This record gives sequence, structure tokens and C-alpha cells, in this order.
Amino acid sequence: MKKFSHAWLAFMAIKSLDDKKQDLSDADRKHAESLILWFMNHKDKVVQGAWFPDELIKDMADKHVLKFCPADKAPPNTVSIPPEKRKVLPEEYLIFKHGRASPVFEQAFNVTDPKDNLPDRCESLAEAVVDQLKVQEYEEKGSPVSPTDNQVALWLFMLSHYVADAHVPVHCDSRQFSSGKNIHGKLEKAWDDEIKKYYRLNSQKTRFLYDTDGYPKTAGDLATDKAYQKSFLKAVADELESRKYSHSFGKGNNNVWDFANAICHNSYLISYRFFPSGYGPDNVNAQNWKTLAPDFSLQQVSTAVLADAIDSISRVWFRVWRRYEMWEKKKKQI
Ligand SMILES: [Zn+2]
Repeated sequence: MKKFSHAWLAFMAIKSLDDKKQDLSDADRKHAESLILWFMNHKDKVVQGAWFPDELIKDMADKHVLKFCPADKAPPNTVSIPPEKRKVLPEEYLIFKHGRASPVFEQAFNVTDPKDNLPDRCESLAEAVVDQLKVQEYEEKGSPVSPTDNQVALWLFMLSHYVADAHVPVHCDSRQFSSGKNIHGKLEKAWDDEIKKYYRLNSQKTRFLYDTDGYPKTAGDLATDKAYQKSFLKAVADELESRKYSHSFGKGNNNVWDFANAICHNSYLISYRFFPSGYGPDNVNAQNWKTLAPDFSLQQVSTAVLADAIDSISRVWFRVWRRYEMWEKKKKQI
């Protein structure tokens, strides 16, 4: 994903929590409200913070991906996952629904490179956020070992980057879509361009301009914008609107690591729906890449990826934040 996509997804994750907080229990609503308030106090740097993994850290080769291929095409001695061991996502997830119609749904699939470790990266950042918040609460302000709010912000924004990347189909598919015609880049550019078309940036292009609620300001009134009505961004908004708020990671997924693996497993299925078997670097090109699957459009894949990524960031952030606040509450009762 590209720079403004990452920041926009983070904003929309908080907005969807904000919009749905009436669905939460009283206790959970308090956790949501404190996370939203905290985000609003740090949002000016979300563009930068969520972009460091690509711009500065540059660990794309292994930590932004978990790539799979069908078992019968796998390199020797690679770990194979039978289809019944594929991790599931919450039922409402679009990549989970669309994945069921993937041509490789019934097949075992292999991790092609054991060095890929996106789920580990997500898990370690999530744990680091909870640890930092605990130390911050425990230590005197200004202590050399006490993390600042800004440091926690950076870790949370970076966490959102890796969670979002797991949803990008080509990050979970070992076919080569990055070099040469760079179909990977074209897909991500389509998303970033659409976001920049309908949301306004400041003149230095360092952050979004904000509406009166503190969320990215739209370019005009989108409710009356005819082109926007056909945009996948409108479909993303409608999809999120239709979901009841939940912070489940899906059946059998107990932590961020399980959840990130489940996302990658289903992202791989989506990739084979959008780029059907038989396609790869040799025959996918700048002209045909959007229309290779007769029954799965760019509109559909974009809606699924972006809506689910927003929901996942929201779920991961909320659960990390709540875990810390529950610890804090218990500590105060002792
Ligand atoms: Zn990335």
C-alpha cells in the first residue's frame, strides 16, 4: 500500500470505531472513547508514522509479506498447509466470503519462503504497544526508561501499516507481480489515487485536512458527487456501515499473530481470484491486469481489501488498547 492509503485506513479505522461505538458494552465504549481521543491528539503524524516501514525501515522483502503458492507448484521442503487448516476470518469479512470462490480454495498451499514473517511483525508490535503503555503508567514521567506518548503513537501507526499490508493480495502470493510491469504498484496506485481524489491534503502534502469531527476532509460534498457514488471508496463506506461492530479475530484466532495469519491465508485466495491460475509476470500487463477474472472486478477486490483492512486495524488497535486499560484498572484496584 502507498503512503496516503496507509494513513487513510488508520483514520477510517478510528472513524468506524467512532461510528459504531453504540454497539459496544458500556465498559468497551469507554475503552473505545479513550482510544479515539488519544488518536485525535496524535493524528497529525499518522501519515509519517504509518509510512516509516516503507520509507525508512524498508523491511518489505520479508516483514510486509507472507507469500504462498499452491502445493503442487511449491519449492521442495516448504511447509504445506492443507485447506482444512486454513485459518478463518470473521464471517462478515469480504476477503473471507470472496475467497470461498477462489480457484485454489480446495487446494493445499505452501509458504514459499520461510523468511516471510508479516504475522510475527504484527504480533511483536502489538505486544510492544502494550508493554510501553504499562511501563509508561508504572514509571515516573521523564524517567529514561519511560516511553512517551509519541513513541506509543509511532508503534501503533506502524502496527497499522503491517496489518494493512496483510490484506494486499499480491503480498500473500508468490507469483512475481512487483518487478517488470509492476502490477503490484499499479494496484496500490489505483487505491492511493482514489483516496487523493476524494480527500484533501494540506498544501505541503504532509497530512490530510480535517473536517469538523477531525477526520480527513472530503473534496466537496460526496453525497451529491456522481462519480463518487460509483467509486469503490463509496462501496467501502457502505460495507463498513452495514457491519455491526465486532472486535472478534475470527474462530480459533486468539491473538494478533493468528489473526494476521488468517488474513494472509485469505488474501492469497483473493489473489488467485483476481489473477487466475495461468497468469503471472509473463502474461499480465498494464492493459489487461484489471480484467483477468470474469467474475471478480477491480471494484470488488478493492472494496474487499480496503473495507477489511480498516476493520482489522480497528479490531487490533481496540484490543491492544483495551488489554492495557484492563491491566491498568486491575492494578489500581490492588
Ligand atoms: Zn508495506
